[in-house]
Amino acid sequence: MADRGAGGGLAGLRYAAPMRIRKLETYVLEGKAERAIEFGAGSYGTFTATLVELTTDDGITGIGECIARKAPRVTDRVVRDLLWPVVDGRDPRDAAGIWDDMFRQLRAWGHYRGFVQEAMSGIDQAIWDIAAKAQGIPLYKALGGAGRTSVPVYGSKVYTAPLDAMARSVQDNVVKAGHKAFKIQLGRSAASGGYRADIDVARVCREAAGPGIEMGADVNSAYDAATAIKVCHEIARYDLAFIEEPVYPDDIDGYELIRRSQPIPLAGGESEFGIFGFREILRRRAMDIVQPDVARIGGFTAAMRLGALVHAHNVRYAPHTGFSCGVAQLASLHLAAAVPNLWRSEQMFITENPLAEIFTAPLPTPANGEVRLPTAAGLGLELDMKKVAKHRLA
Ligand SMILES: [Mg+2]
Repeated sequence: MADRGAGGGLAGLRYAAPMRIRKLETYVLEGKAERAIEFGAGSYGTFTATLVELTTDDGITGIGECIARKAPRVTDRVVRDLLWPVVDGRDPRDAAGIWDDMFRQLRAWGHYRGFVQEAMSGIDQAIWDIAAKAQGIPLYKALGGAGRTSVPVYGSKVYTAPLDAMARSVQDNVVKAGHKAFKIQLGRSAASGGYRADIDVARVCREAAGPGIEMGADVNSAYDAATAIKVCHEIARYDLAFIEEPVYPDDIDGYELIRRSQPIPLAGGESEFGIFGFREILRRRAMDIVQPDVARIGGFTAAMRLGALVHAHNVRYAPHTGFSCGVAQLASLHLAAAVPNLWRSEQMFITENPLAEIFTAPLPTPANGEVRLPTAAGLGLELDMKKVAKHRLA
């Protein structure tokens, strides 16, 4: 039998030294924008996130973000009280096994969605950041790599405003910025014209963009299925690349009906957890473009497992970022660089997100509709602890 020790008998055969996760730190962040953003689900002015930082016994640190649109301290408690006991002492190169053990904590008690998976997301990203740094390669390469060093993005989002202001935003943030694709906000409240005004929004924004740029529309669940079908028939003439979340995420029957009743490709998935929800959506062929959020679905491990499902069902993959802190925005780019069937990654062009620029260097920006990934190991950017401290809640 071969000697398995260091300097053993089989030339070139090496076994990685043990590595253990030994330290947890979390950062609960909040930042207020000067002006709230108006969209279908209401307005959003206070940005929040829970960051997870893990450190190994040999001093490698990884970071990740849990989506926390409200009450970020809840996610923090789930990370600390429920999940950290599972992660403490584990080898970060066992990401898939750690993921299954975290999920197992409450699955049999019915908690297979929600805060648990959001908390798992931050931990899993931090684990992958460490695993990539330990290999000295960018995170998207550690995930398997898809041969991309840059990813196509779409500009997000032309939010609800008077029609002329939305047209100006298309000109400034999309056309002049060199984007090849973007999305607009639909789902106006009755007070601002309702679905009839949405039809005008689609027309005005298409006219501002011209014919050569792909344009999607996000409804943030403001319609019911009947309204969605009616609106889609009206706006299809403006060449929509997709209609996103026309109805509530739990209304899969509605998605199925909408997809079969009008010509615009259907997108969604930012509100979905794990891969069981996506399994049902894809089995029913209820979406054409899936938009998981790496800070909600369960981190890179779940997002890559979804990639296999997306590939098998021959639909398209478009990672979501929305109002997330810069950590999840950067993580989404790495995910986009590694998944099969990529359409485009969401690239936020709003400037009011006070948690976006949280690193010592700026987030990568698009040129000609593509973002080049950082080349340093792991996520590739380091947290700026002064900025973190400024937004950290007590
Ligand atoms: Mg959306």
